[in-house]
Amino acid sequence: MIKRLSLRGCNAYLIDFEGKSYLIDTGIPGNLKRVREMEQIDGIILTHGHYDHAGSAVEISDYFSCKVYAHKDEHPYLEGLDEFLFNGVVGKIAKRLERLKPMAHFKPSDLKDLDISFMHFPGHTPGSIGVIIENSIICGDLVRVRRKHLIAGRYEIKPSSRNFNWNQKAYIKSLERLAETKVSKVYPGHGESVTLDKEVLKRIVDRLRE
Ligand SMILES: [Zn+2]
Ligand SMILES: [Zn+2]
Repeated sequence: MIKRLSLRGCNAYLIDFEGKSYLIDTGIPGNLKRVREMEQIDGIILTHGHYDHAGSAVEISDYFSCKVYAHKDEHPYLEGLDEFLFNGVVGKIAKRLERLKPMAHFKPSDLKDLDISFMHFPGHTPGSIGVIIENSIICGDLVRVRRKHLIAGRYEIKPSSRNFNWNQKAYIKSLERLAETKVSKVYPGHGESVTLDKEVLKRIVDRLRE
C-alpha cells in the first residue's frame, strides 16, 4: 500500500515493506512536525537529494532514530561533498536553497542494503531512483504531473525541467527506460498520481530528443 502524505515541498509516501514502515522523501526542512504523530518510521528512502525532497531527512531520521537510504551515486551530494548543477534563473534560486539543506553529520546508507525493489534513473540527478511496488513507481522528479489546462480532473505527465537536470542526455535515456517497464501507475514527487500512458511518455522522449 502506498499512502501519500502532504508534506511541504514535495509529495512524500509511506510504504510498508517486510512489516516495516518506510517514508519516501521528506520535503523541505521543517516537516518533522507533520510526521511526528506517526507511530514509527523505520527508514527513509530518498528518490534523490534535492532540497525539496531531502530537506527534512536529517530531522525526521534523528527523531525516529532511523537510517536514510539513497542511491550510492547520490551520497556525495547528501554528504555535502559535491553540489548539484542547475541552470537559468530558477536554477540560481535552487542552488541557493540547496545550501540551506541541513546535512551536517549526515551519513546516508546505500539503498542496496535495503533489498527493496528500485530502479536507478540517472539524469535528473546522478543517483535518482524510482521505488517499484508491484505495478507502481514512486518516481521522485523523473516525471511530474500537472493539471491539464482548462480541463477539470484531468492530469498530464510532464518531464522535469532541463534547468534542474544534472545530465539531460542521461535523463532522456532514463525516461525511455521507464517507458519500457511494466509500471502502469506513477506516484510523482510533484502532482497527482496517475496511470502511466506509455505512448505519451514516448512522445515526450521524442520531443526532448529533437
Ligand atoms: Zn529534483
Ligand atoms: Zn522536486
